[in-house]
Amino acid sequence: MPQPWTPDHELHAFARTESRPGPPEEDGGQWMERRQTGQALIVCECGYTSGLIDRATVRETMAELAAEHPPALGADSETPYGPRAAVAAWLLVNGVNPDDVPLEGPISVDGQHIRYAALLRNEAGRHYRDERTGRSAREERVTPLTVEPPANVQVKATR
Ligand SMILES: [Zn+2]
Repeated sequence: MPQPWTPDHELHAFARTESRPGPPEEDGGQWMERRQTGQALIVCECGYTSGLIDRATVRETMAELAAEHPPALGADSETPYGPRAAVAAWLLVNGVNPDDVPLEGPISVDGQHIRYAALLRNEAGRHYRDERTGRSAREERVTPLTVEPPANVQVKATR
């Protein structure tokens, strides 16, 4: 007899941000100002949602949820920097979307900044292949280090 179907789980966390149009520039251009709100949201592909929670509690909340929402095969696999889920959660609390970062690296902490490769998205919002390099299109980005890596995330300083 076939086994019953059960829902897949994959927890995702999102930092909640706010934005507003900035003051007009001298050249007539205008930028959006964006800031972190200190809040985050965790959802699971099974339909669970945490509602808004304090961003600082994302890492421990994800760890608590992991028992009820066991990650798909591979989510707890190792990256060169530690367990995939731990590296992803640490990036997230620093305002970096881990879905856009190849977790095999390179990722480094450089003084008070995190330096990492970010996968680019096309107009349809999808990652795409760079015909020139034959791999996913990416660029190096730098973001302020706001939360130090936990003990199980080993990100080597570059200097
Ligand atoms: Zn779930």
